[in-house]
Amino acid sequence: MNVLVIGELSETSSGLVLNPATRHAVTAGLLCGVVDLLMIGAGLAIAGEQAARIDGVQRVLAMDDGDFTRPSPELLAPLLAQQAAEYSHVIMTATAFGKNLLPRLAALLDVQPVSDVIAIDALDVFQRPIYAGNAIATVQSTDKIKLLTVRATAFAAAPDGGPDRIVVNIAKSVTASGRSSRFVGQEMTISTRPALTAARVVVSGGRGLGSRENFAMLEPIADYLGAAIGASRAAVDAGFVPNDYQVGQTGKVVAPELYIAVGISGAIQHLAGMKGSRVIVAINKDVDAPIFQIADYGLVGDLFEIIPELARELAQEETR
Ligand code: FAD
Repeated sequence: MNVLVIGELSETSSGLVLNPATRHAVTAGLLCGVVDLLMIGAGLAIAGEQAARIDGVQRVLAMDDGDFTRPSPELLAPLLAQQAAEYSHVIMTATAFGKNLLPRLAALLDVQPVSDVIAIDALDVFQRPIYAGNAIATVQSTDKIKLLTVRATAFAAAPDGGPDRIVVNIAKSVTASGRSSRFVGQEMTISTRPALTAARVVVSGGRGLGSRENFAMLEPIADYLGAAIGASRAAVDAGFVPNDYQVGQTGKVVAPELYIAVGISGAIQHLAGMKGSRVIVAINKDVDAPIFQIADYGLVGDLFEIIPELARELAQEETR
């Protein structure tokens, strides 16, 4: 089987780099066959070097052209539709990038896409969560091309290894004209913390924190643990933090080694985004809060006492 993994790119001050989520898509791709990795963008030198080192990738394909500066999904979809014909599987990450692209590409190829794949049982049989993660559907695709988004948290990141591959530049064959949308601008959150979806530790706050000022109590804890900060939707809706902090069904899906939920009740929509975490710690004053049903460790008490105490303990630990 020939598999095409679509590389997701991120803008940095030094240029376009390969988004780490792509490595997880490569691992999923290797379960289906021989993997080619395709990137489309303007200025792919760094991303190309990174892709060329990934273990298991057979060929790195690049469409590097000024026309592809911040390409929209409307531009990418027809380019990918042409490439896809040679492949049995086309795989991308279940991020905003993949979710935006997948339906457009599926419409052009006239296939039924399978989104949010968490396991590959056979070349045509996939598992995906439904009902906010409360059930897992096993689906079989009879389409000639299997078109998938995969959850990064369900597949390990493909490591570097093996000889560097040559990056093959392929010509663009769709004109950039006649596009129905164009890039206007973007607002990026600048943070020195790890990305929420890639962090080993996540400290999340909920409505129980009460205000934006109180929410900042989580920062020293996150600093000591090298953690990303997340939030429940109630905390986001109340304006404590921006909405890219949201974990859950309509937010980000995370599966860190340690997830600390502070003042979060544990609604199913929140659990849908974090219950795959390896160790879950919940801090809540309500002993009956549903979060305790899935927590490995529960601290019943007032977070306004527990969090400062925890910060003090961690500070002392650091000086020992
Ligand atoms: P609450 O449910 O109000 O819980 C606050 C908790 O803080 C309580 O358990 C309370 O005991 C505790 N607390 C209060 N004070 C203290 C204190 N001093 N010390 C200790 N504990 C304290 N939610 C998400 O999180 N993510 C999603 O993606 C999401 N998507 C949704 C999609 C849909 C279609 C719908 C309908 C809802 C969605 N929600 C989502 C909302 C979800 O249903 C809950 O409303 C939300 O998760 C509740 O957030 P919370 O736990 O912070 O607030």
